[in-house]
Amino acid sequence: MTKPKSSSQLSQQFPMITQLKEYQPLFWRNPDYGQTDPHLPFTSEYIFDAVARWERFAPYLAVVFPETAHLNGIIESPLTRIERMQSSWSQYNNWTLPGSLYLKQDNVLPISGSIKSRGGIYEVLKFAEHIALTQGDLTYMDDYSILATPRYHQLFSHYGITAGSTGNLGLSIGIAAASFGFQTTIHMSHDARSWKKAKLRANGVHVIEHDADCNFAVEQARKQAAQDKYTYFIDDEGSADLFLGYAVAAVRLQKQLADQHIPLDRQHPVFVYLPAGVGGSPSGVTFGLKKIMGPYIHGIFAEPTHVPSVTLGMLTGLNHDISVYDIGLDGKTAADGLAVSRPSFLAGKMMKTLLLGCATFSDNEIFKYLALLADSENINIEPSAAAGFAVIKESLQALQTDYPLKQATHIVWSTGGSMVPKADQNNFYQIGNRLLNN
Ligand SMILES: *Cc1c(COP(=O)(O)O)cnc(C)c1O
Repeated sequence: MTKPKSSSQLSQQFPMITQLKEYQPLFWRNPDYGQTDPHLPFTSEYIFDAVARWERFAPYLAVVFPETAHLNGIIESPLTRIERMQSSWSQYNNWTLPGSLYLKQDNVLPISGSIKSRGGIYEVLKFAEHIALTQGDLTYMDDYSILATPRYHQLFSHYGITAGSTGNLGLSIGIAAASFGFQTTIHMSHDARSWKKAKLRANGVHVIEHDADCNFAVEQARKQAAQDKYTYFIDDEGSADLFLGYAVAAVRLQKQLADQHIPLDRQHPVFVYLPAGVGGSPSGVTFGLKKIMGPYIHGIFAEPTHVPSVTLGMLTGLNHDISVYDIGLDGKTAADGLAVSRPSFLAGKMMKTLLLGCATFSDNEIFKYLALLADSENINIEPSAAAGFAVIKESLQALQTDYPLKQATHIVWSTGGSMVPKADQNNFYQIGNRLLNN
């Protein structure tokens, strides 16, 4: 091991760290983007394996979560053209957004109302299938709705599931795991909203509150599982299954692009803006996008200027070995889904050649976009989910000489919101509105 570098040595080696330290919004362009990476641990086959598992479970989900029945138990969100928001965005920025703007509405995904319904639930399904195949009499050809019967509930009740979370991951894992009958414990960080904890408790989930950040909550869950061989730990900082659950989104999005006649080629690039916390969901999605759709679809991560953990990890190449505290940042953000000081083990490694870049934004901006979206499209999202809107300008100004932006499609991945209680949502909107009128 080489000796860890001091913060000033790092700033010398990577001048952008000076900007990060001053909480300045920036765009970091990945110098390795588009190279070939011989070390990628997964191929497209891993994604298709996950797609098939979701399909096996669809009959179960349709029964247990009736809100998924209209899509026959497939958990997917709409891709929505948002022309009025595009005008509002251009007006607010005093700069015409070239191309067409869309919203990928994971804010309405069933079960958690967030992108966490992809990864978190997927890993619970995979564990349940493993138990049912090895300890029960399930076969791959069965109608998986039998897993909702008391006999299986009884079997699953001998096992536990645990995870640490800032809120949404806990919500999706907790609700899905409890549906099977697993003994479920969620370790919550200090920024987790109280309605998320209340909802979990109402579902019979054991919630442990920690007065510390997400990385600490994950650590506590890891420790709990290490002490009990019947408890399965879902690791937000390094799980391959979480990652692959997110990647499935790309297979679904490919079809949505085709159905909506959205072109994708050298002359018609598609830019996808994804909020990053620990980096798991955006890197899983981006991995899928690149594997399924190739070179002309581009992922860009959005992070708060106070918590640019993935940006810092990737630009220094230190990934999980550096935290935003190491360069003196305070790690504070109102975007609770993004309040993660240290990136996952997987994010930087998987994104080394697959991510176009990362951009940072000030917290105030996401509240303004949340309000603009509500006013222009009547779509309500949570603050973290508005992050994509806040990095488009910074990103495109850095990229405009290299890409035909007039024919581009921009997809803001709206990562959460539909389950936020009305009073909280109104409060977010008021904050944004006040900021816009100042
Ligand atoms: C979790 C979350 C993210 C970020 O996902 P990571 O896997 O932590 O990077 C973004 N938005 C919302 C609403 C989230 O809940």
